[in-house]
Amino acid sequence: MKQIRDAIVIGSGIIGSAIAFALTRAGIRRVTLVEKGPLVSGMTRRNAGLVHPFQAHPLLCDLANASYDFYNQWAISFGGKSPFVETGAAVVSNFAAPERFAMWNAHANASEIEPAALTARYPNVTDQFRAVMFSPRAGYADAVITAQALVNTAKANGLEVQTGTQAKQIVVKQRHVQGVQTTTGELEAPMVVIAAGGWSERLLAPLGISLQLRFRRGIVEFYEQPPTITHELPMLLDANSTFFFRPHPYHMSAAGRVSLESQTQGIESLDEFVSASDSTSVKQFVEACLAEFANVSTKRAHPILYDTPKDGLPALGRIANIDGLYVAVGFGTSAFAVAPAVGETLAQLLVDGSAARDVSSFSPLR
Ligand SMILES: Cc1cc2nc3c(=O)[nH]c(=O)nc-3n(C[C@H](O)[C@H](O)[C@H](O)COP(=O)(O)OP(=O)(O)OC[C@H]3O[C@@H](n4cnc5c(N)ncnc54)[C@H](O)[C@@H]3O)c2cc1C
Repeated sequence: MKQIRDAIVIGSGIIGSAIAFALTRAGIRRVTLVEKGPLVSGMTRRNAGLVHPFQAHPLLCDLANASYDFYNQWAISFGGKSPFVETGAAVVSNFAAPERFAMWNAHANASEIEPAALTARYPNVTDQFRAVMFSPRAGYADAVITAQALVNTAKANGLEVQTGTQAKQIVVKQRHVQGVQTTTGELEAPMVVIAAGGWSERLLAPLGISLQLRFRRGIVEFYEQPPTITHELPMLLDANSTFFFRPHPYHMSAAGRVSLESQTQGIESLDEFVSASDSTSVKQFVEACLAEFANVSTKRAHPILYDTPKDGLPALGRIANIDGLYVAVGFGTSAFAVAPAVGETLAQLLVDGSAARDVSSFSPLR
């Protein structure tokens, strides 16, 4: 039997969870979140939960600035203990004034500081860099706990969650969305949001649509924090957005790298292999920032994939030639940092037909 809903969201990663949360908060009554596995079982489960404004495009910086306010004011939406830990974030560079610094100066709520000023604030950080950009409005959170909190709050506002349910086909008639055919039955709704991460192309292909998603691989490693670290640590990033370091609860630290080269290996065939050379390069970045990490060894590590369209920017908004079909896909390593504002923007698009923020530069079929 068909179930009749107002909106369907496909995918319970950080993006789909934030959208489901925002739709129920915007007053859409019958929203269903469809997830093929357990809740939050895609790449969000592996991601580093970084919240910072150092993004690759002014609009992503703007979405990150708005999302920071959401994470920082967690108690307003959720009450209780916030999973967000504010650390501040610095982009460090061995070269003077990298190109992106001007963009971040204008859009990222950040400013260039003397390397010595970073060390004065965080005494364990070396001052050997040529240029440093700093924002106090940054930190991290456990991505799974955050996504689950968004879904649970939305459930209290009427969200229906169907886990173990795979969306098989978007049903479209005469260029209008009718609903979704799933492995457990048909859901009828005039609005469908695809937030299925790297799996999204499969749902769009039968409609003759491709987002041209590319996959890039990376690793996340965890170290025990050396006992000589006695001060707070910031989040640290390199100017090419290849490496990151952040503190982690229980006297641990996390660090990682992303590959800038796209690969043909799809999301279904992600192996668990972490190469020694990747591990070494991450460790070198951490040591260059924090000399006391010279002798730490990796406690655990995992690979991770991220997806973005060909130009590296996400696909966000309505699919122009099909009424009622929306996508929010390809946010790459920015997904967690921007998810709350992405959810809010999509909710405005679905409810009002337009959003306060102009997201046309991320138009899915650009
Ligand atoms: C080293 C490294 C570090 C990273 N760190 C971060 C970080 O700090 N922050 C960040 O945001 N990103 C980070 N990423 C990127 C991260 O991998 C993802 O880009 C991000 O988690 C994607 O979120 P998502 O919600 O779009 O997709 P996902 O979390 O993958 O969610 C998609 C969901 O859709 C479900 N699904 C798929 N198809 C269907 C279907 N047909 N029917 C029903 N359900 C379906 C999946 O099971 C999955 O749960 C990092 C990547 C690398 C390489």
